[in-house]
Amino acid sequence: STTLDVDSIRHDFPILQRQVHGKPLIWLDSAATTQKPQSVIDRVAHFYQHENSNIHRGTHTLATESAAAYEGARAKVAAFMGAQSPQEIVFVRGTTEGINLLAAIFTEHLLRPNDEIVLTEAEHHANIVPWQFAARRSGAVIRVAPVDDNGDLILEEYERLLGPRTRIVSITHVSNALGTVMPIREMTVLAKRHGATVVIDGAQGVPHRRVDVQAIGCDFYVFSGHKLFAPTGIGAVYGRQALWDDMPPWQGGGGMIRHVTFRESTFTEPPRRFEAGTPSVSSAVGLGAAIDYLDGIGMEAIERHETELLAYALQGIRSVDGLRVIGMPRDRGGVISFVMDGIPDLQVAKMLDAQGIAVRTGHHCAQPILARFGLESSVRPSFAFYNTRAEADTLIETLRRISRQR
Ligand code: PMP
Repeated sequence: STTLDVDSIRHDFPILQRQVHGKPLIWLDSAATTQKPQSVIDRVAHFYQHENSNIHRGTHTLATESAAAYEGARAKVAAFMGAQSPQEIVFVRGTTEGINLLAAIFTEHLLRPNDEIVLTEAEHHANIVPWQFAARRSGAVIRVAPVDDNGDLILEEYERLLGPRTRIVSITHVSNALGTVMPIREMTVLAKRHGATVVIDGAQGVPHRRVDVQAIGCDFYVFSGHKLFAPTGIGAVYGRQALWDDMPPWQGGGGMIRHVTFRESTFTEPPRRFEAGTPSVSSAVGLGAAIDYLDGIGMEAIERHETELLAYALQGIRSVDGLRVIGMPRDRGGVISFVMDGIPDLQVAKMLDAQGIAVRTGHHCAQPILARFGLESSVRPSFAFYNTRAEADTLIETLRRISRQR
């Protein structure tokens, strides 16, 4: 079928049945974290009820089963992203840890003084601060590609920043503050002309779009499980096999070694070379279940539903008196950001919460892009495939009421 059966989907998410202040919960904070379907909750419970073990292989039955579940989840992530093999997927705690892993390794392994790291103006702090550490330690320099007044990347300016010194381009797939979907494929093609290593921050990309890392052509793509209907504490870094093979380890400890003496250690093959210590096995298994759930619905159907819902919500929100939407990108994923004349953002959020509507306010860990629009904060409803037009209507009506009370 071409449309989503959202009513039936909503029954898969037990938390969506709860009430807040006597009203049905309207979860418009999925860009911060998504709710979990029963199948994911059940899969994690099943793991602890039947399979729980550390993942040392071959020693006993439960260890074999939990290792198989963990590696099975890796294979699901690989297939979901269009990777060539499960070995290209490194499990991490989330996007933040994934970018820190790459930045820390490249500090030693890739960056030299005066090399350039290109970011966009719309990055989350998680895709800024680790590169600042890398730049400070290596002598590399950060260059920032600007966006226009709609929040769209100015592609010519980005292109002008690229050159023989560009070593790394690290860009968000979708802006968590404005919703801008970046032209990551075009940006990757341009970066590759200069031989740069391309990293995509996919935290807000994977929940909304079919991601095919080979079609994008990027070298690395990082995301968080908790924003993809899976538990917290798990995320993934896709990287090209040949690049992983050449990279030295990051954290040291158990699981990533081949042989250790007090004199020196040797390290195992990727991906385990980059997974020191006991991983979040149950959360990885939960991520695998979330991917099964999404595959059952289809990312294409999800994207269609969300595109229509966002356009509908945007039209209504924009029509509220005294409300200013921040950023009108050509292509929008998940997020609408706005401010209201004369009412602090936090007060707007409190008044929405009184009606059961959960939205985020604040700087969204993206202070530079808000500063670009002269702001320190905004109100940010964010949407997922389980949201409905009726919920958008309640949001819009409530905003109208808040506006009238100014
Ligand atoms: N990048 C973007 C674009 C994000 O939206 C987020 C989460 N708000 C992150 C990175 C960081 O993700 P996490 O906190 O799950 O590590």
